[in-house]
Amino acid sequence: MPEKFLKPYDSAAAEPLIYQKWAESGYFAPENLPNLPDGSPRTEPYTIIMPPPNANGSLHAGHAVFVTIEDLLIRYNRMKGKKTLWLPGADHAGFETQVVYEKKLEKEGRTRFGMDPGVLRNEILQFTMANKSFMEGQMRQLGASCDWNREKFTLEPDVIRTVYDTFKKLYADGLVYRGKRIVNWCSKHQTSLSNLETERVSRTDPFYYFKYGPFTIGTVRPETKFADKYVVMHPDDVRYAQYKEGDKIEIEWINGPITATVIKDEASDPEMGSGVMTITPWHSGVDFDIAKRHNLGLEQIIDERGKLLPVAGEFAGMSIKEARPLIVEKLKSKGLLEKIDEKYVHEVPVCYKCGREIEPQVKEQWFVKIKSLAEPVIKAIEAGEVTFYPEHYKKILLNWLTNIEDWNISRQIIWGIPIPVWYKGSDIFVGENPPAGGAGEGWGRDPDTFDTWFSSGQWPFATLGFPDSQDYKTFYPTQVMETGGDLIFFWVSRMLMLGLYRTGKLPFNTVYLHGMVVAKDGTKMSKSKGNVISPLEMSEKYGTDALRMGLIIGNTPGTPTALYDDKIKAYKHFANKIWNITRFVLENTQGVTPNPVYNFNAADTDLLAEFILVAKDVTADIENYRFYLAGEKLYQYVWHRLADTILEESKTLFKGADEAAIQSRKQFLLYVLRTSLVLLHPFMPFITEEIWSSIQSGSMLIVEPWPNL
Ligand SMILES: [Zn+2]
Repeated sequence: MPEKFLKPYDSAAAEPLIYQKWAESGYFAPENLPNLPDGSPRTEPYTIIMPPPNANGSLHAGHAVFVTIEDLLIRYNRMKGKKTLWLPGADHAGFETQVVYEKKLEKEGRTRFGMDPGVLRNEILQFTMANKSFMEGQMRQLGASCDWNREKFTLEPDVIRTVYDTFKKLYADGLVYRGKRIVNWCSKHQTSLSNLETERVSRTDPFYYFKYGPFTIGTVRPETKFADKYVVMHPDDVRYAQYKEGDKIEIEWINGPITATVIKDEASDPEMGSGVMTITPWHSGVDFDIAKRHNLGLEQIIDERGKLLPVAGEFAGMSIKEARPLIVEKLKSKGLLEKIDEKYVHEVPVCYKCGREIEPQVKEQWFVKIKSLAEPVIKAIEAGEVTFYPEHYKKILLNWLTNIEDWNISRQIIWGIPIPVWYKGSDIFVGENPPAGGAGEGWGRDPDTFDTWFSSGQWPFATLGFPDSQDYKTFYPTQVMETGGDLIFFWVSRMLMLGLYRTGKLPFNTVYLHGMVVAKDGTKMSKSKGNVISPLEMSEKYGTDALRMGLIIGNTPGTPTALYDDKIKAYKHFANKIWNITRFVLENTQGVTPNPVYNFNAADTDLLAEFILVAKDVTADIENYRFYLAGEKLYQYVWHRLADTILEESKTLFKGADEAAIQSRKQFLLYVLRTSLVLLHPFMPFITEEIWSSIQSGSMLIVEPWPNL
């Protein structure tokens, strides 16, 4: 028996050496995998494209979940004889990274505003690349058996080329347009945000009623009202039948007399207040739509920093907060304030990063006509071409896709893929460089970058070298997309739409969505609560295998998973148990050669049948994405059946004189130990490989065939 089994298992010492052995074997790459047991080459591909983590910090527990589940799937399918590719990546993560970097600048007493764009971009690039290589080291620590030679970063030239080609195709197909549209503007971050990047919060604010000529209008935002010169009422509202569309009325308003024009539109709700409203098309989505329908002019009242413009007269330059009470005061002094409802409860959209209230602004942006891309995906999902774990995400996604609105893909941030568009007057040219003649002839580049999800949405085919590479031909479509449930709209939906649009095929046919990792009491992990579990610290303390078991057991798709120190510690005990079982079996089977066709006695035939049943169950559970059950069953069998009962009985048996029974049991124990190591490998790759190296020199467990049951 190898001497190492006399000492306890030392995960910290063993794991880096084992990872190095795997990496050196080349088995992370599909082309290096050994032939099947019958000598034929592997033909069936099995591909997972890794969700590229944001290269702006450490891996957290959520990352550890995806690394563990995807690695489990890849290891299992590699052992099943498939041509496995797990393609790793890292995401520049546009706005997300820029926000992290801005905080860093803030701490240093600096700000991005006013910085040379080239210098800023370069600084963020250095920061991102440093984080990227740090993160890769952490991923290795977690045992990720991905093909590092194929790793992709979202800002690599070939990825950018694919993204540009997609944009050009969308443009040629009339599926992107530049439009003056209302966008969600964050005045802190100085960028527009997609609807998904805003959150709605409930607020209680005063609601003001003002006299507007012969009418009464209500608003929570008097500061937007300076240039309100359109008064809108429902065409069927009998109270206002005397007013006709286009009627002009002279009224006294905040900064003096103005001419108001009557507009009849069904958007005005007769049940709301007086049934009359004025509109501010530049700063409200509803008002913008009314203005568009009636061809009305637009005027900006609030600038991009949230300050009032000269149209506000004496209030120009003030922030909304400062100006609001003063404006109300002025209207009151002019006798135009009717009443105030102090407790008006309403929902306001805020920036998902800083919580600042979104100020709608009208900007020229690029929009994708997403309905055309959503329709074929809706059809494919309805036809059952995509399987969701858990299943209810199918309905959630279908509902979202059915009600989808045009997607604003322009971002006013520097950290991203620049939009490949040039302008000269009203001429538009789509391309990486200006048309022949160059920028010198008056072409100016669009200053914006793409929404980071526009490029991530193309990740499965962009990483595989679409359209010509051999990898694309071999490994696309991929088999499963495994990611967090919170990314169903942001990412999964966009991959389905853009993948089908560009390649004609869905990028994957299975979507597995894991839930959030939470603290023991079920609450969200947060720095302020001090309940954050660092997966890397846990891996150092208890071993990566223990961490992985802690992340798998009890983890059903789509629901939160609790992770805490004691849970992981319990699986460290399990690793020790496996180590001790091995020692016992090796001590008691010295000189015995495993015989794969041994004729067991009746007792051991029964034990074997019982074990085969467990192995079959475990296999079926993995095939059906019930990893938590597979892990639990192996744990129960190995600890409570094999160690607690069978080994205890064997001790007595080995003290006896029934030589035939002893020989049969020795063969059984060797078989069950070896096969358990195979079954446990996708869950606990390090300790199983470490033991394997002692009982089967010259072979590696990572490519050992899965038992054919
Ligand atoms: Zn913000």
